[in-house]
Formats: sequence, C-alpha cells, structure tokens
Amino acid sequence: MKSFTNANPRDVAHAVALSAQAHGANRSVSFAGGGSDLLALVKDRIVAPDVIVNLKTVKGLDQVAAAPGGLTVGALVTLDALDRHPVVRRDHAALAEAAGSVATPQIRNVGTIGGNICQRPWCWYYRNGFPCLKNGGNTCFSANGENQFHAIFGGGPSYIVHPSDTAPALVALDATFRVVGPAGERMVPAAEFFILPRDDAKRENVLAPDEILASVHVPAARRGTRSTYHKILDREAWTHAVVSAAIVLELEGGVCRLARIVLGGVAPVPWRVPEAERVLVGQRITPELAAQAGEAAVSGARPLAKNGYKVPLTRNLVRRTLVELAARA
Ligand SMILES: Cc1cc2nc3c(=O)[nH]c(=O)nc-3n(C[C@H](O)[C@H](O)[C@H](O)COP(=O)(O)OP(=O)(O)OC[C@H]3O[C@@H](n4cnc5c(N)ncnc54)[C@H](O)[C@@H]3O)c2cc1C
Repeated sequence: MKSFTNANPRDVAHAVALSAQAHGANRSVSFAGGGSDLLALVKDRIVAPDVIVNLKTVKGLDQVAAAPGGLTVGALVTLDALDRHPVVRRDHAALAEAAGSVATPQIRNVGTIGGNICQRPWCWYYRNGFPCLKNGGNTCFSANGENQFHAIFGGGPSYIVHPSDTAPALVALDATFRVVGPAGERMVPAAEFFILPRDDAKRENVLAPDEILASVHVPAARRGTRSTYHKILDREAWTHAVVSAAIVLELEGGVCRLARIVLGGVAPVPWRVPEAERVLVGQRITPELAAQAGEAAVSGARPLAKNGYKVPLTRNLVRRTLVELAARA
C-alpha cells in the first residue's frame, strides 16, 4: 500500500480547503467517511491518494435532524444508525430497510451514508486493476466479457451497476443532497446526482474535485405514503444487490395517487421506471396490476450476453414488492 498523509479537518469548509490545498500542490486526494470501501481500494492499489481527508473529525456531521419539513441526515451518519432511527423507520422505511440491507453489522457500524452514496463501482474488472474506463483506460471489458452482474439499463460505454443500496431509496424518496466545494454549496436532487457513463464514463456522480457530499435532506412523507426496499442477493449476506427495488406509494382510499419505483443493481445509476409508475397511478393495486407494472418496468431492458436472467428477476421483484407494500397496514 502506498503511504499517504492523513488530514483531519475541523469542519466542512476546512475539509474542502485541505483538499484544494493538496490539489494545488499537485498531490492526489481522497475523502474518507468510514473507510470501509476506500481503504480496500488503497490497499489493492486501485486508488493511490497522497492525502486522505478524514471526514470523521468534522463535528456535527453524524446527526439526523428531524423537522416538520423532513429529515436532514449528516454525511457521517452510519448505516446502522439510519437503520435503527425511529423516525426513519416510521416515515421513510425504504431508507431504513436499504441501510439495514448493506453488507454486515460490522460494515454498517462504520459505513456512512456519504460513503455509501459515493462508493466506487464493484465491477470485478475495475476492482482487479484492469485498465478499464474506470481505471483510466478506454475499454469496458464487461461489454463482451464476464457481464453476469452488469447493467441491463443505461449501459455504454461502461456497463457498471451503481452499487449503493441507499441511492435507489433516496431517489425514490425524492431526497436532495447538499454538496459543498470551494465555490460554496449547492443543493442537488438525488435524481440528478448520479451520472450515466454516456455523459462521463470516468465517474459516477456530479461531485467535482474538492467537493463533498455534506448531508442528505429527505422531505417529510405526505399523508398516505408508504415505502419499502427489497434486495435480491446471490448469497445471503455481505454483498451488493443483484437486483433491488425501492418503491414509494401514496395511497388515498386504496387508490394510488403517486408511485415512484427506482431499481438498483441493474444500471450505472439508480434507475427510475416511469413506465411502471404510470400503470399504477389512479388505480387500486391488485396482483394483476402489479404484474403489469413489473412487465412495464423491464420494457426498456437491454441485457448483455450473460445477464438476461436479471430481466425476469426485476419483473418479479417489482411485482412482489408492489403487492407486499400495497397490503401493508
Ligand atoms: C464485504 C463488503 C460488502 C459490501 N456490501 C455492500 C452492500 O451490500 N451494499 C452497499 O451499498 N455497499 C456495500 N459495501 C460498500 C461500502 O463499504 C458501504 O457501502 C459503506 O457504506 C461505505 O461507507 P464508508 O463511509 O465506509 O465509505 P468510505 O470507504 O469512507 O468512502 C467510499 C467512497 O466515497 C467517498 N466518500 C466518502 N464520504 C464522502 C463524502 N461525504 N463526500 C464525498 N465523497 C465521499 C470516498 O472518497 C470513497 O471513494 C460493501 C463493502 C464490503 C467491503
């Protein structure tokens, strides 16, 4: 592992300044939350920062603040704390369930929401040091290679899938991210934070150098709203979603007034399926309607040679999740 300097900021502005200062001196920089992803990348020499800006020393970023307008979740709040937070569980179940589905209790204890959203892809070509698009090369080896776990939507030129469990939940819950950088701060809707490889194949989100994700705002749940997150794994624990679905429904007298369905594990960004949402709005959710929505959810799928199995998996996951969520008291 290459040696690096640890920088301990006092606050968010100081973190940004330390990063900009290091870049100004031609030194490479990474931000660290819990370090559960970053340090493995450093050990495996996939990234080699000269400076690690350790966000854990920033005071106050590990708080969840509940107000009438919604929740503000600091970037350092751990996945375990989110999973156990009573207001998150009551009003934004999709987020609590997504956080609780990540990896293992040990990783959820150190892993932060900021790091979860900003984690790098888990494509085996990238993680094994192939000179792929994510490693500074100009080829995506999964396009014609081992693509069992890759994208069936939105792929090209890279076919990674976005690995975060909380990201689909946050898009479905209509969250907004507070991003802080040298030029000040900006609020970015979660739905616009993640970027497709066709727009920039080297990165997964809109963060510029020296910018950090400081907090997440989740708007208050409207009356009649319920949400959930379901995840399919290729083994029972320790791993990312093969396919997942975050669903938010607003029901009034049993009729669906609003639906947001966002898929994980199937695209380079959390993948919203408005075709499926349209099937539901204005209707009572029956098993037959849920099956139609599942069908609509995969209508735009473009599987690769070895991941066609994700199409029926996604169709059935959407159907089952809708039936279960609509039946919840
Ligand atoms: C065995 C194993 C299984 C895993 N399974 C899952 C899983 O099932 N689901 C899942 O979603 N994840 C999984 N992960 C990935 C990851 O460890 C967790 O998602 C964790 O939440 C990452 O948080 P962290 O704070 O440790 O991130 P870090 O390792 O600190 O950071 C991750 C990345 O985000 C950047 N970063 C961190 N915080 C910020 C910030 N505030 N602003 C800007 N950039 C930032 C870092 O520079 C780094 O590139 C797994 C990891 C391992 C090792």
